[in-house]
Amino acid sequence: MAKFDIAVIRGDGIGVDVIEEGIKVLSVAAKQYNINFKFTEFPWGSDYYFEHGRMMPQNAIDTLRPFDAIYLGAVGHHKLQDHVTLNGLLLPIRRAFDQYVCERPSVLYEGVSSPLSGKKPYDIDMMVIRENTEGEYANVGGFQYLDFPQETGIQTAVFTRHGCERVITYAFELARKRNKKKHVTSVTKSNAQGYGMVVWDRAFKNVAASYPDIKTKSILVDAACMEFVRRPEAFDVVVASNLFGDILTDLGGIITGSIGLAASGNIDPEKRFPSMFEPTHGSAPDIAGQGIANPLAAILSAGMMLDHLGEATAGDAIEKAALAVLAEAKTLTPDLGGKATTSQVGDAVVVALG
Ligand code: ATP
Repeated sequence: MAKFDIAVIRGDGIGVDVIEEGIKVLSVAAKQYNINFKFTEFPWGSDYYFEHGRMMPQNAIDTLRPFDAIYLGAVGHHKLQDHVTLNGLLLPIRRAFDQYVCERPSVLYEGVSSPLSGKKPYDIDMMVIRENTEGEYANVGGFQYLDFPQETGIQTAVFTRHGCERVITYAFELARKRNKKKHVTSVTKSNAQGYGMVVWDRAFKNVAASYPDIKTKSILVDAACMEFVRRPEAFDVVVASNLFGDILTDLGGIITGSIGLAASGNIDPEKRFPSMFEPTHGSAPDIAGQGIANPLAAILSAGMMLDHLGEATAGDAIEKAALAVLAEAKTLTPDLGGKATTSQVGDAVVVALG
């Protein structure tokens, strides 16, 4: 029997509720597929901050290191600035475990309608690969004259040839593996960001030369936003910098019906460290505590976690069960036009698992 130690950080807001459903589904799949999960909960996040003055303990990274994977809900609180919650928990984990690939599928599933007219199921079927450890999110910068009228913030984006090439290589390998359009689109703004993103462009050209079977396109992020709306069916694998990938995947979430369906994995492809799986959405304070958050993004992220752990059969079963609930369109949360609660959707996925 395969055995996995999973660190669970529910975090804030709807993160707490959606992870509950993810664990419910994982526990049922574990029985069906002979997997032994040991879930260890860590009560880190904004409440922890209010008590201890930090989002997670000083030794958190060492505590997480031995786990096979991390399952995260969301962090964010209206009483804390977002840079505090992000830099206090999410970003240090991504960096410390060199989770340099953020994999975010954007698929229009059966039973879900897109706000874009005339789109049929699977007309939109892309995978956005977001660079996840450097770029615009590099922890490089500082304040000068803070609290004075001339206060100044310096923020430096970091693009290393190594960092660009490894994530771009992952995108090309994925395009081969998916075997759909065999196409990779690179998204930058290298006309204006004339240093770092030029390094990205050079890395893209260099990696592309080793994949003659894969078609390529390089576009600027403003054009990419337009094309995501105008012709999303043209995309297969999209690779983008940390910031652009973040923005594009919210757009990818909404054109495929709801951000509540957008799964995400922060992956160390070399498996030296635990990878972390979380829904793309945040803590959604506007609906937190109401029991109406869509748990499917968290459940689909759990499926991705199983794939990563080498349990693809169980991972596929979770994905199929979630998609069956969508296709049936009877048990849906309000973001998808339904009236079901978070836990009713989780229960429906369990039933669909069989
Ligand atoms: P954070 O600061 O934690 O990122 P946010 O409100 O800025 O929170 P999201 O949490 O991604 O960003 O929410 C954006 C919008 O999408 C909100 O209106 C929210 O209610 C909605 N939303 C996000 N996740 C879900 C979900 N799982 N189910 C339903 N609606 C969701």
